[in-house]
Amino acid sequence: MIDSHCHVDFKVYNKNRQEIMEHAREKLTAIVNSGATLGGNRRTLKLAEEYGKFLYPTLGFHPSNASKSDASVIKQVLKELKSNIHLAVGIGETGLDFNQLDDESAKNKQIKLFETFLELAEDYQMPLVIHARDAEEEALEMVKKHSTIPEVIFHCYGGDLVTAQKIMDEGYFISLSTIICFSDHHQKLACELPLSQMLTETDSPYLSPFKGQRNEPAFVEETVKTIAKIKSIPAREVDKVTEANARRIFGF
Ligand SMILES: [Zn+2]
Repeated sequence: MIDSHCHVDFKVYNKNRQEIMEHAREKLTAIVNSGATLGGNRRTLKLAEEYGKFLYPTLGFHPSNASKSDASVIKQVLKELKSNIHLAVGIGETGLDFNQLDDESAKNKQIKLFETFLELAEDYQMPLVIHARDAEEEALEMVKKHSTIPEVIFHCYGGDLVTAQKIMDEGYFISLSTIICFSDHHQKLACELPLSQMLTETDSPYLSPFKGQRNEPAFVEETVKTIAKIKSIPAREVDKVTEANARRIFGF
């Protein structure tokens, strides 16, 4: 079992990181930790060194940070991404987050940086981890123009079914998070979409399946179990297919 998207590097785990990594090792075969800031990318690389052959890094910059950050920070992110690209299994997270965002210039900042990441994924021939929120259709239109990117994942997908089907038509992947445990909309998506283009994740520390308990990679088991229940198939079948998908995409 694999958690295909989490943020174990976040400061909220400073007190119990070792413990949650132990939980993860007990249940999972690998986790993919996605850098979302300049410091996050650095910490992610450090963790990958510490937990070699278990924690695999992707390097990116969250779109919500893109609309707030100085050009100098973004320049440094891109510089470090390029020099560490050989250590990463993918590029991201990157994308568009228009949730509660009306400011056109902030949107344009996100669009511009996303375009840069699309070009990097194309140049380096790396899988791309996309965060798209209230901008799924826009993100899809942009990524489609870069047809040589080897693999594309819409992580923690929460858009509508019509766009999800367009994503499937392109041969891209959708990653479902632990939000599926308590969201009817996500359960409907899991029901309609094929396992062959699905991944499972937690997006830890967010979206805990358990009330009052912080999310952690080991809880990806709840995503797998919920998908199994919805599709009326054994959990081990969901696990087998989604783990194989993740391994093929990220190449580990
Ligand atoms: Zn994330």
